[in-house]
Amino acid sequence: MTYGRLVTDQTSPAATDPAAPAPDPASTPTEGPATPSAFAAHLPLAHSMLDRAAHRRTEEGLFATLRADPSTRVVLLHRGRLAVGPDGLALATPQEVAAVPEPHAASGDHSNTPRWVFLGEDPPSGTSFLALLLPDDADDLDLDIEGVDPKGPLSVLVRTHRWAGLRELASRLGPRDTGLATEAVALAAWHAANERCPRCGEPTVPVAAGWVRRCVAQDVEHYPRTDPAVIMAVVDPGSGPGDDRLLLGHAAHWPEGRFSTLAGYVEPGEGLEQAVRREVAEEVGVTVGEVVYRASQPWPFPASLMLGFTATALTTDLTPDGEEVTDARWFTRAELTDATERGDVKLPSRSSIARALIEEWFGGPLAGE
Ligand SMILES: [Zn+2]
Repeated sequence: MTYGRLVTDQTSPAATDPAAPAPDPASTPTEGPATPSAFAAHLPLAHSMLDRAAHRRTEEGLFATLRADPSTRVVLLHRGRLAVGPDGLALATPQEVAAVPEPHAASGDHSNTPRWVFLGEDPPSGTSFLALLLPDDADDLDLDIEGVDPKGPLSVLVRTHRWAGLRELASRLGPRDTGLATEAVALAAWHAANERCPRCGEPTVPVAAGWVRRCVAQDVEHYPRTDPAVIMAVVDPGSGPGDDRLLLGHAAHWPEGRFSTLAGYVEPGEGLEQAVRREVAEEVGVTVGEVVYRASQPWPFPASLMLGFTATALTTDLTPDGEEVTDARWFTRAELTDATERGDVKLPSRSSIARALIEEWFGGPLAGE
C-alpha cells in the first residue's frame, strides 16, 4: 500500500516543453527487438557516464578552486528546471557566474540563497562540473526593500536562459548531460526539503560540496536519500511460448486509455521481491511466483529509483483495488499491437522503464510516443 504516494515513472504528453532541445541522435536508442543485453539502452536516465569523484567532496576550498578554473562548467537549475541550449544543457562558464556569492555565506542556507554542488568530472576531458541551484525567487521582480534586484546576477541568469524540466529532456540528452541533469535535479530537491533537521527542527547547512547537510545545533550529519520503487512486467505464461500474456493496469489519475505496468514503493523493512509480490497482490489480486531483476533507472521526481522486474503470475483473476488501479487487463501480443495501433491503449513514454519492460516482453517497439 502506498498511502497516497502514487508511484509512476510516466511522463505526461502535455508536459512537452517547447524549450527542450532536439533529440540527441547519439543518445537515442536504436529501434529493434529489445534483447536483455540491450535493455539498459532503453533507459535514457540511466546513461550517466560522469565520474562523481566523491573523494573531492571534502577537498579544502574546492568551490574556489573550480570556480577559478576556466575549464569548469556549471549546470544551472531554477525551480527544478534546467538551463537548456540547442544541443542539450546550457552549461555556464565560471566567468558567467562569477558574481554569484560563494556558498556558506553569512546569510546561511535557505530557499532564498543560491546553492552550489560539486557534480563530478568528465573522464575523457577532465572537465569538472558544478551545479548552481538558483533560489526560487531569483526572478521575482515584484519584491522591494530586501527583495531581488532585477539587475542582480541571479535575476540576470534566470532571465537570460531557457529552462526545461528533466522529464521533457529525458530522452533528448547525451550520456554526459543525462548524468549531470539527474544528479543536479535530485540534489536540488533534497536540499529544498531538508533545510531543517528532521531530529530537532533546527537549521541545517550544506557541507561536503553539497553532499551532506549538517544540523548546526546537534552537529549531526544528514545524507541524501533515495526512495526505491519496484516496477514490474507481470506475465501469465499461459500454456507455453507464444501463449503468454502481459498484465497492464490503468491508474485512477491517468488520462483515459493510458495503461502501464504496475509499480509501488518499497516499504520499510521489506525486500525487493516481497515488494513486487505485495504490490501486485494489493493492486490487482494476482499471486506472483518468480521475480527477476532487470535494470534500474533514477527518477528524481523528487527522489525515486525505479527498479525494474519481470514477474511470473501464478493466478490470472484480476480484481483491481479500485483506488490506485481502476482497470487491469491481460494482453496477448496481438491484442497489444491492435490496441496501441488503434490508440485504444496509450503506453507510457519512451523515457520510462515501464515502456522498456513492455517492449522487452513484446519483442520490439510498439506504436505511440
Ligand atoms: Zn538537529
